[in-house]
Amino acid sequence: MIQSVAFIGLGAMGYRMAAHLPKQFDTVYVWNRNFAKAEQHASDFGTQAVSLEQATQADVIFSCLPTSQDVDNLIASVQLKAGSIWVDCTSGVPESAQKLAQIVKSQGVDFLDAPVSGQTIGAENGTLTVMVGGDIKAFERALPAMQCFGKLIKHVGASGAGFAVKAVNNMLMAVNLCAVAEGFTTLKAHGVNLNEALDCINASSGKSMVTETVLPQRILNRQFPLTFALPLLAKDTGIAVDLVRQAKLSAPVLSLTQNLIQAASDLSEENSDFSTAVTMYEKWSKITIE
Ligand code: NDP
Repeated sequence: MIQSVAFIGLGAMGYRMAAHLPKQFDTVYVWNRNFAKAEQHASDFGTQAVSLEQATQADVIFSCLPTSQDVDNLIASVQLKAGSIWVDCTSGVPESAQKLAQIVKSQGVDFLDAPVSGQTIGAENGTLTVMVGGDIKAFERALPAMQCFGKLIKHVGASGAGFAVKAVNNMLMAVNLCAVAEGFTTLKAHGVNLNEALDCINASSGKSMVTETVLPQRILNRQFPLTFALPLLAKDTGIAVDLVRQAKLSAPVLSLTQNLIQAASDLSEENSDFSTAVTMYEKWSKITIE
């Protein structure tokens, strides 16, 4: 039985994910590096803003930080409670999950890599997809807590498998984003009405999440609202190509996409949404996708 849960990292995703926990659990601790956010969360949702030391005494501890390195540093700085489960919702590095799972096991703690998909809107609605790697018994024990913010929750394999699925998922989205930028600058160069073209494509075989939501809601309207930072997508594509290399495979499309997304990220201004990657193509072609 889970008596207490904690959420560490109240960023764009974590703030919204943690908001669902008090509906299911009486004791919900939250901690954030900028502690004012934790206090705001407590006031907004009835959670308890506590010290990191107290948060890590919960039965189930969620984290959602930018990178695996951030999680490694955090775990190294605290004393964990035997019998607890650390559920890391960061989009992280599979090898790090394997190492961390070993490290915390010696303290009697289970570690699950449990990255999420569904954007900030999915976090807000509690409809995220959660892809989980690690011990199956720990997965079953943590499931009721993950169900607070997840709709489709799958155990996909041993430690690191969740992070691997997430990296490949985001890589597929990135491939599509680059292809859409190339396809739509080409259509514009040929004088095509892009809004009408989009309607046709979204009723045809070329449609995707990028054409159905990212293109109309972020790019064509020139809004580019920041919900998922471009450097985080570049991090994910980097994890995916590392997986390709480790498997000694050749993946030219993925490698090229990683180079393009990394270049777009390097050229971007601070706090740029992932969708602004298309502006690199717009600069090259001197064509705006609108
Ligand atoms: P944000 O940048 O919005 O939030 C990051 C959070 O991590 C903040 O709470 C920040 O604290 C905290 N943090 C950053 N560095 C450290 C550190 N060194 N030690 C402790 N806390 C730290 O990121 P997101 O919420 O967008 O993303 C979090 C993770 O979720 C990433 O791995 C991302 O790839 C993934 N993700 C994001 C999605 C999205 O749509 N945004 C969708 C699915 C997955 P502080 O407030 O103090 O800065």
